[in-house]
Amino acid sequence: MNEPNLKAFIMIQQNAIDSYKQMALEDEYDYSKEINQHQDIIDALEKQITKPVQIKNIKSQDKKYGVCPSCKRGIVGEESVYCKFCGQKLNWN
Ligand SMILES: [Zn+2]
Repeated sequence: MNEPNLKAFIMIQQNAIDSYKQMALEDEYDYSKEINQHQDIIDALEKQITKPVQIKNIKSQDKKYGVCPSCKRGIVGEESVYCKFCGQKLNWN
């Protein structure tokens, strides 16, 4: 799925969450299970949207050091496409 489609699909999920929240104001029913399911989908989709790595230089080593924009963990010496910790898609430029 390309990024415009991902963003459109995220918006659909967000609209569904908003609808459940609106319904929860009217109903006695607890929609938190449904809301959490849509939120899980949003979280997974957002990791497919490329985010820039915060690149830092380590003087002592000739290696790139980057910080994942999602989980904030450090990634050293490898310009991986995805964060190996959380699966965030990364841009090293
Ligand atoms: Zn990460």
